[in-house]
Amino acid sequence: MRYISTRGGVAPLTFSQAVMMGLATDGGLLLPEAIPTVAPDQWRAWADLPFQDLAVAVMALFIGAEEIPRADLQELVRRSFATFSHPDITPVVPLGRGHVLELFHGPTLAFKDVALQFLGNLFEYLLARDGGILNILGATSGDTGSAAIHGVRGKRGINIFILHPHQRVSPIQERQMTTVLDANVHNIAVQGDFDDGQRIVKTLFNDLEFRNAYSLGAVNSINWARILAQVVYFVHAWGRVTGGAVERRVTFAVPTGNFGDIFAGYVARRMGLPMERLILATNRNDILTRFVRTGAYRTGQVQPTVSPSMDIQVSSNFERFLYYLVNGDCSRVRGFMTELATTGGFAVTPEELERTAEVFEAAAVSEAETIDQIRATWREHRYLLDPHTAVGVRAVGDRVGVICLATAHPAKFGEAVQRAIGQPPELPPALAELHGKATRLTVLPADAGQVKRFMVQTLAAGR
Ligand SMILES: *Cc1c(COP(=O)(O)O)cnc(C)c1O
Repeated sequence: MRYISTRGGVAPLTFSQAVMMGLATDGGLLLPEAIPTVAPDQWRAWADLPFQDLAVAVMALFIGAEEIPRADLQELVRRSFATFSHPDITPVVPLGRGHVLELFHGPTLAFKDVALQFLGNLFEYLLARDGGILNILGATSGDTGSAAIHGVRGKRGINIFILHPHQRVSPIQERQMTTVLDANVHNIAVQGDFDDGQRIVKTLFNDLEFRNAYSLGAVNSINWARILAQVVYFVHAWGRVTGGAVERRVTFAVPTGNFGDIFAGYVARRMGLPMERLILATNRNDILTRFVRTGAYRTGQVQPTVSPSMDIQVSSNFERFLYYLVNGDCSRVRGFMTELATTGGFAVTPEELERTAEVFEAAAVSEAETIDQIRATWREHRYLLDPHTAVGVRAVGDRVGVICLATAHPAKFGEAVQRAIGQPPELPPALAELHGKATRLTVLPADAGQVKRFMVQTLAAGR
């Protein structure tokens, strides 16, 4: 399996090279040259596999055995999910007339652990095998940062620099990052919003001289390995809900920000997983919902919400979908991205919009609706939703049998829960013990040059 860039400017890469490159050197995103398809019999056979075995089977389709021997992949997967507190890793639970896919049983209690526990081990494995070091640079709206930090803390050959928007992540999210005092962990609070952080990261990745001299690596959802790990739970959930009945096509609802999680669902669908549609659920930062409805992708101002991990106006993974939408025409992808950078938006053709609608439905959920959904679900089912999951559940509406991805544990967003049900959520031990721990962070202006200087100085000091 070879990997290529959405913008067509990178010679085909191996899986390992694609993982180490993160963002493609031509500014695009990396994708497998072809998405493998899986026959109905195979889906049926996979339906009752334990999560770890399924993960190996799915990932093996995208990773050459000559590159990572299967026994090594198995061991990587085993270690990555040993940190989860639930035996099913990502259990599906019934809720009302549908299901919730609980993705929050990892160390930081958000779905990003699924991919980042794996990515941390994968990086360590590749660096030990091929030599070299890696300086991970990423921007977070809250959950990616802590999941990434917990994925690589203390790992040899790896430093991690995580930018989060200063005082715009929840207190618990902040503490989950800044209480990790391992010498290889560096938290930077940027005086701006998430998009500022993301822009700085992109700028530094496009500074090829810096990037090469300092071996920068990515953990944002632009890294292909993250998408790959997330494909697994769509398959797993389908198997649990249908029991392997391939004629049963299911619909997933996905609370969406950077389009990473839902893109993994799209990949699963392209692999042939019996899937009806993907419901794209956004909060009032609704650029993606507007796109699905109108075909125009136009950025606006980021508005803070109670679901901050989805407060995003430029969804970095969206370019991957665009690539497929234009049937791999890289020059059109480049055209879209140039137009986006120069005019703040672009539009696809009516025919392309129609094809988008065959896969995606979309709904934007307001703040009041989000809080109301947490309250209503609690009252009716005594099940506590976090505000991101509440956006997804609200977007499902009256549809029956939908599997909604539960992307975070409610205790991570206590303030919203308190507002909804009049009492704070019970803190699981992993969160309760954060209180009173020592923290470390550096506050910097939203300026790529200053972040670069901080990194250079920190690494020169050998910290
Ligand atoms: C990151 C995140 C999302 C959005 O996921 P994307 O892959 O960026 O679309 C939703 N909910 C929570 C809790 C998150 O941490």
